[in-house]
This record gives sequence, C-alpha cells and structure tokens, in this order.
Amino acid sequence: MADLRHLRQDFPILDRTVNGKRLVYLDSAATTQKPRSVIEAIDHYYRTSNANVHRGAYTLSVEATEAYENARAKVADFIGATDSDELVFTRGTTTGINFVAYGWGLNHLTEGDRIVLTGMEHHSNIVPWQLVARHTGAELAYLPINEDYEVSLDDLDTVVNSRTKIVALSGMSNVTGAFGPVAAVSAAARSVGAITVVDAAQAVPHAPLDVALLGVDFLAFSGHKMLGPTGTGGLWGRRDRLEEMEPTEGGGEMISDVGLYESTWAPIPHKFEAGTPNIAGAVGLGAAVDYLSKVGMSEVRSHERALTKYGIEQLSAVPHLTIHGPADLDNRGGVISFQLADVHPHDIATILDQEGVAVRAGHHCAKPLMRSLGVPATARASFYLYNTPEDVDALVAALHHALELFGVS
Ligand code: PLP
Repeated sequence: MADLRHLRQDFPILDRTVNGKRLVYLDSAATTQKPRSVIEAIDHYYRTSNANVHRGAYTLSVEATEAYENARAKVADFIGATDSDELVFTRGTTTGINFVAYGWGLNHLTEGDRIVLTGMEHHSNIVPWQLVARHTGAELAYLPINEDYEVSLDDLDTVVNSRTKIVALSGMSNVTGAFGPVAAVSAAARSVGAITVVDAAQAVPHAPLDVALLGVDFLAFSGHKMLGPTGTGGLWGRRDRLEEMEPTEGGGEMISDVGLYESTWAPIPHKFEAGTPNIAGAVGLGAAVDYLSKVGMSEVRSHERALTKYGIEQLSAVPHLTIHGPADLDNRGGVISFQLADVHPHDIATILDQEGVAVRAGHHCAKPLMRSLGVPATARASFYLYNTPEDVDALVAALHHALELFGVS
C-alpha cells in the first residue's frame, strides 16, 4: 500500500478526539477534511488581497482577480482541460448539473426526446433531468445495474436510441463505489448525436482524470470532496457546448451589454458566473489542487485501492455483515456500503461515533439505487488519502462492539 501516512500531519482536524477516542474519519464521500495549506490559502487571501474581482482598477482588485483566475487555470489543468475558459466555477456538482440541465437541456430538448440515466445515480443527477423532462416533454430512460452492482450495458444500443439527446451518468457511485462505464456510454451517445454529461463528484477527487481523453461534453465536480472548501466546484464543458448553452442565472459579471429589454452575454466562462463569485473558495480550491497534484493522483488511487482491498477483506470477516458493491477492485473506488445483521444503519453510525469512528448512514441521496439493492439505507465507510489500515481496524473493532451491544452472535 502506498504509504501516505505522513500526510495526516497536514490535516489539523485529524488530531482531535471524538467521545474521548481518536477521530477516525470515514466519510470523505460526503465531504473531505482540509489540509493546512488550503486553510492558510483562504486565510492569506482574506488577510492580504481581498477585493471584488474583474472590475477594479486598483491593486487589491487586480490581485484578487489574478488569484481567482490562477485558481481557474490550476483546476482546469488538474482535470486535463487545455483551455481554462472551459472551466466554470460553480457551487458544486449539483449546481453544475443544473446548469447543463436548464442551460443546455431546456433549449435542446423537445417532446419525445430522450434523456438516458443509469440506475446508480445520485439525486443530483436525476432530479434536474426530471424537472427538465417535465418542462420539455422529454422522456427519461435508464441503464439498470446488474448483480455485480455495475451499470448493465446489455441493452445499451436500444436504450441509447436515435431519440436520445442527453446521456448523464456518474463516474463513480457514492453508494457502491462502482465506476460508471463512461467510455462505452459516451461512445454510444456520440453515435446517435447525443451529448454526455458526467457526474464526477466521486471521480475527480480519487483518480487521475483527463477530460481531453474522455470524449464527453460536460463534467461536473465538487471542490469540498477534493480537499477544497464547501461551496466550490467546477463544471467543465467543451467550448462549443458551453457556447451554445444559455446562462441560467443572470446578473452582474455575466453580461457583455445590458439594455432595457435585452442583454448580451460575456464570453465563456463568465457568462455562467453571475454575481460576485466565491473568490476565497476558488483560491482554496486552487490550493487543494496544488496539494493533490503534489501527492500525485496515481498515488491517491493506488493508496485507496489497497485500502479498499484491506477494508473489504476485514469487513467480510465481520459476522452478519453484507457489503453492497463490486468485488472487482479495478472497477470500484474507496466507498464501502454495508448492512450489519438487521441493525438499522443509523444505530450503527451512532454506536461507531461513540468509538470516534465517523461513517454515514442513510439512503445517500440515491433512493432509486437503494430500491434496486432492496434496502432502505446502508452504513457507508469512505476513504481518502489520509486514511490508514488502522482506521479500518478501528471500524472493524467498533462493529464488533455494535454486534455485542445488539446481542447478535
Ligand atoms: N453526485 C455524487 C455521486 C455525489 O456523491 C454527490 C455528493 O455526495 C453529488 C453528486 C452532489 O454533490 P454536491 O452536494 O457537492 O453538489
């Protein structure tokens, strides 16, 4: 296992205790902890360069603009975009997908058109499409998951048909950890002239990714799931797609000219960034990307792959524990959802918290997937670069304790 243990000292929160125990943070799929360099970059920005961006002719505003646009260039580069104008700063994955649904979908879909999703999507990649389908009369169709928790491609050619205009899928499930078949699905979409939108909330933070090679049209991700601040994220879009997409928020910053009855838009990416942006957030996200680049995304992936292997082995040895996720480590990331006997996942999470172990419990904003799994909720442990085998051991020990408390033998 790539030993990234030395990185833990960069994350001040990992020094704290919870309920008298060492904090074992296993909820990075929900949000990640922040290294000192990110916290300090935000602090430094507010202490030294805070001003509004893009309009000011004075030094502080020029510095703030430079900091904001430098962050854009770093984040674009991090995902392999050669043109930083193709990177729109957003509040997160949800905002990015909504921008595409309303800005592109609303203007390109008509009655009878088809939007294809998969059976493992987060609500963020379902509900915006339902809303747009309702507005336009388009229909939704799904690629289901199979018994290996993977998106089934058996009916790909019939589900992605000539009426399909949009295919939207996750790069990795936040419940099962399964990777989405982005290459196969986007090839099918291209063959019928449809666009592909990737929900990369769980993909960008955990493995090398290159939008130039993916062959997709849009890709949305969240800054807070990749060591950055909350309220940050990115929507990458191919230049031509962004140019044909309408802004969905209007206001300052996003215009070229405003008349009493009509306005024209600023060039991309600014036409999608109405109002004063989250400048400090962007600076923090830029620092997060610096941190991840220094560690190396291949290192991050191999560390998490090894930790997931260890986690699955150890959890599989816990009596009455069922894991919901693919066995193939090459086709999954570091998210392990599980059931423990018939103990409610919320009770599991509460008991684990007494041991300092933070896991998530619930439907994980993926109710249709939960129904396919036949469960209302799961407990979920998710890993990042700062987790260690000792964290897995602490989880397993706490689960044994839970079994004792519930009298399950
Ligand atoms: N998509 C997936 C797969 C997620 O895991 C999440 C968050 O958990 C989202 C979308 C939504 O991300 P955000 O809440 O940052 O917009």
